[in-house]
Amino acid sequence: MAIERVVNTGANDNTPEEQELEVTLRPQDFANYIGQERIKQNLKLAITAAKKRGEPIDHVLLHGPPGLGKTTLASVIANEMGAQIRITSGPAIDRAGDLASLLTNLQDGDILFIDEIHRLNRSVEEVLYSAMEDFKLDIMLGKGPSAKSLRLDLPQFTIIGATTRTGSLAAPLRDRFGMIHRLEFYQTEEIARIIKRAAQILGVKISEDAALQLAGRARLTPRIANRLLKRVRDYADVNGDGIIDAVISTSALALLEVDELGLDPADRRMLEAIIDSYNGGPVGVETIAALLAEERGTIEDFHEPYLMQIGLLERTPRGRKVTPKAYKHLQKRKHTPDDQSSLV
Ligand code: ADP
Repeated sequence: MAIERVVNTGANDNTPEEQELEVTLRPQDFANYIGQERIKQNLKLAITAAKKRGEPIDHVLLHGPPGLGKTTLASVIANEMGAQIRITSGPAIDRAGDLASLLTNLQDGDILFIDEIHRLNRSVEEVLYSAMEDFKLDIMLGKGPSAKSLRLDLPQFTIIGATTRTGSLAAPLRDRFGMIHRLEFYQTEEIARIIKRAAQILGVKISEDAALQLAGRARLTPRIANRLLKRVRDYADVNGDGIIDAVISTSALALLEVDELGLDPADRRMLEAIIDSYNGGPVGVETIAALLAEERGTIEDFHEPYLMQIGLLERTPRGRKVTPKAYKHLQKRKHTPDDQSSLV
């Protein structure tokens, strides 16, 4: 199901069309970056102070589920600093030499954004330590007894790292960030504002109640909100006069199989699998992944954070457990040893 895939995935595995959409809709400054007020306040302060001193800002680590605006915030920081930003990702920096050439090509004040920084390999990470701390690059020339180490000066740069998991980040790397911010899920009202802003940029007419309805089903995540808007716009163009009202959005969401809580078929399959095969859990994430033929990372990074946020799933030391609210939402009954049909 092509549609399901497009709506479901929160990871950065976008189609070219989606990447273009993200660039068009990406806010450029704090004024257009909706929500995350506490983080914005902290960053504004750091930026003002750095500018006053004529220095780059301290290294920043942004973490949180995919689609919440980490990449966007990095480019907002760069814009507000008046700095150039280079964008790369952990898996793209294969060897220490790749990092060395990235760093030596930076200029004073530049920002290097490293997405999925938890996926840097150890040897690259070690080079990054002294680069971040002292703006020095330690490189080894040659091998064996004749090997020499060389120390190069680097420009004064800022690293902005993004990760969906701080837990997977080595402590020495984490400690080298002067600011660590966790992006939280958005309020529904903020998502509604993001949808209305995106609709305006795309030249789509959307009614207030339709915007609120979409906002309620966008997993409290801007990237999903923008995707839903785009799919519903397609539906409105084909089945109406292009205007998105509540009638159009209700039918479009039904076609997309996104329910009132914003769950998609994959979320529902996951909860149902835990209920049907493990009587609600606890069950290990590996088992869930095998049961659904899904990658463990997708479950941990994308499905679980939202299901936990809205109280349908719990993480316990013995594994994942669905909550009574999930049984109710899916209209399922919990089986007990003595009464097979008792309601939770
Ligand atoms: P992440 O890097 O956390 O996966 P992105 O920064 O790529 O997320 O955000 C995905 C899309 O969501 C962006 O293209 C942007 O259009 C939108 N977006 C994210 N955060 C905001 C925000 N605070 N306000 C408005 N739009 C946002």
